[in-house]
Amino acid sequence: MTDCVFCRIVDGTIGAKIVCQDEHCLAFEDINPQAPVHVLVIPKRHIRSLNEFETSDTELLGRLLQTCRTVAHLKELTSAGYRVVANTGSQAGQTVFHFHFHVLGKRMFRWPPG
Ligand code: 5GP
Ligand code: ZN
Repeated sequence: MTDCVFCRIVDGTIGAKIVCQDEHCLAFEDINPQAPVHVLVIPKRHIRSLNEFETSDTELLGRLLQTCRTVAHLKELTSAGYRVVANTGSQAGQTVFHFHFHVLGKRMFRWPPG
């Protein structure tokens, strides 16, 4: 998907500060951070949103959440706490239609979210 900003980060056409990666998943700093720690975790394969995951992608979903855990450890978020969010669809605030988890930390969060 050449018109997808996150696919371009995966292929290196657009730069990003990479936190960690493996064969299937990539974690990088959000360009407009909403907390002192704000990292995005994406599949390297283009998947539009949570709605488009297939049953055969169950292992990939697990890998993505494990990558969120790795980010939490690397950024030292585990003791104080952190938030993992996947905005799904425009009403939920999704603006980039390549699936991503947000990993946010190092500040207080309110509930319910706005
Ligand atoms: P969404 O609104 O879809 O849940 O989140 C998209 C996120 O992607 C936003 O937090 C936004 O700041 C981030 N973002 C958009 N374009 C870029 C980019 O080119 N590079 C990086 N690192 N983050 C981006
Ligand atoms: Zn994409």
